Amino acid sequence: MSADTILTSTDLTAFFPRLASGKVRDVYTLSPSTLLFIATDRISAYDVVLSTGIPGKGRLLTQMSAHWFAVLPSLVPGLRTHFVSMALPSALEENTELADVYRGRSMQVRRLKVFPIESIVRGYITGSAWAEYRRSGTVHGGRMREGLRESEMLEEPIWTPSTKAEAGSKDENISPEKGKGNALAGTEGLADSTTAAELIGQNYASQIRDLSLRIYSAARDYALERGIIIADTKFEFALDESTSPPSVVLVDEVLTPDSSRFWDKEKYEVGRPQESLDKQYLRDWLTKNKLKGVDGVEMPREVAERTARGYREAYERLTGELQQR
Ligand code: ATP
Ligand code: MG
Repeated sequence: MSADTILTSTDLTAFFPRLASGKVRDVYTLSPSTLLFIATDRISAYDVVLSTGIPGKGRLLTQMSAHWFAVLPSLVPGLRTHFVSMALPSALEENTELADVYRGRSMQVRRLKVFPIESIVRGYITGSAWAEYRRSGTVHGGRMREGLRESEMLEEPIWTPSTKAEAGSKDENISPEKGKGNALAGTEGLADSTTAAELIGQNYASQIRDLSLRIYSAARDYALERGIIIADTKFEFALDESTSPPSVVLVDEVLTPDSSRFWDKEKYEVGRPQESLDKQYLRDWLTKNKLKGVDGVEMPREVAERTARGYREAYERLTGELQQR
């Protein structure tokens, strides 16, 4: 294995206990207070993981997240994040072969108590929000102005939180409003029994909403200057109980094509669906070959390469750096 290896699975259990394995990332416990996040080259589309990976994807995504963790605190004053460093733990650093594979795709983060909500912000109307609007004139239960067109920029970004689903099930929309029985309850698209405030308390729900909107707006402007539209994104937050009062911290990956919709500003056109910079080629190929949603599909090399190009493009535009290979 070398730095060019396409990594689709990891086994570092000889060194650290494995905490979790998501669709794309593997998480190990380094100490009671520190986790190691490793981004593999796995890729998911239409909710299933393909059996072949995308060359360079894990490194690009890790470095993109690290870039945001570096710039966001200056764009959003007061923001705290879980980022510790990109250093490899010494057990991996000391082993040349492992160091080659894991360097650049690994991130050390502080282990914190994650709030059980997906903090989604939408700046443009697309995807499930567009589908809901067409059916009922609402997004996430909130009435929107008439005459919005597909992919149109919203006057104000909106916060549309959902629950964090157990592995294998679907996230459910929840109401951002406090209390039950408000004007939003029972509206299409919302689980009418749950609100963000009920799940995590009004205080934290408002802090998370406020932070999410501020981060999104800052990142949207930053990306737009670099030719990328961030149409929507998902954040996760956690509670740091070592401060007094406990503080809300930005965790997980941030503002990558895996957690967001990135569009090419040059190709953007209101009134139709947009190609996403990263996965569109793959999604189209899956659809064309009637493989949409099929488990364990193997992509031809050409499809993997074309998809890799989308990730590189997004990375290079955002960070202004050519990817080190
Ligand atoms: P998916 O592939 O759908 O994202 P997943 O969320 O289970 O699945 P990952 O995102 O790879 O998989 O897993 C990362 C897990 O680590 C998530 O459950 C996330 O909430 C959690 N997490 C993120 N940051 C921290 C942190 N600082 N401390 C503790 N847990 C964290
Ligand atoms: Mg996740």
